[in-house]
Amino acid sequence: QLIYVNGQFVEKKKAVISIYDHGFLYGDGVFEGIRVYEGNVYKLKEHINRLYESAHSIMLNIPHSKEELQQIIVETVCKNELNSAYIRVVVSRGTGDLGLDPRNCPEPTVIVIAEALSIYSDNLYKKGLKLASVVNRRSSPDVLNPQIKSLNYLNNILVKLASVQADADEALILNNQGYVTEGSADNIFIVKNGKIKTPPVYLGALEGITRNALIDIAKEQGFSVEETPFTLHDVYIADEVFLTGTAAEVIPVVTVDNRQIGDGHPGEITRRLLHEFRKQTLIDGVP
Ligand code: PLP
Repeated sequence: QLIYVNGQFVEKKKAVISIYDHGFLYGDGVFEGIRVYEGNVYKLKEHINRLYESAHSIMLNIPHSKEELQQIIVETVCKNELNSAYIRVVVSRGTGDLGLDPRNCPEPTVIVIAEALSIYSDNLYKKGLKLASVVNRRSSPDVLNPQIKSLNYLNNILVKLASVQADADEALILNNQGYVTEGSADNIFIVKNGKIKTPPVYLGALEGITRNALIDIAKEQGFSVEETPFTLHDVYIADEVFLTGTAAEVIPVVTVDNRQIGDGHPGEITRRLLHEFRKQTLIDGVP
């Protein structure tokens, strides 16, 4: 496996960065996860744009043009001869000293990893997930805005841990006002009386690229989709619940905090949207 590290392709075992890298020391950096379907990099432009926006927000200058980085990503996939893959792009502040000051990190670290996929098992798509809700006081935009896809994922890891302790498959994060925001690495949708709802990102969610793709697909399929705040109660009484994400695609949820959702099986609309989503992944990519 060849990994892109700062301008070179190196074998996995030799792909190393400095222990003084501020990505490692402080989570100071940004990243993207991207899928390759049948040789097409899905929504590459959207992922690149979000990466540059996250970097801009934390005043990190990515040392490549968007076109160059796009080329590096495609090259990484080609060099590894992957037809279906998961790509991780990481840009950190780079190597500095033990102080926090980013001015002592002259060169950002750029890494691109493309590897064969380990996705959720087919069984989970058929059976659906169990969620546990977790209040995450840091999900408000005045602390570290979840709209920035930064390397600082400790909050997400803590909510994931809480969900594991609650014996659930994934966490459902509430903001400090009690509004539902997102999962630890995915966005949430609910369906009630045929209408689809997802929280607005300003409540404290990443603007998921799969989320946006799904909103478009659902509208094309004639559904009404509203970006509107809702509470846990709305989730408990929904007919269907599902999560979206680069890794998760569109995955049904069948219980939340031990309350059964709908009839306890993946919903019809969810299954239809997953089907349409998978069809689209084969068309809407960069070859
Ligand atoms: N929310 C969080 C916190 C995430 O880390 C991710 C994954 O990237 C998502 C949502 C889903 O976003 P996307 O569909 O762009 O993968």
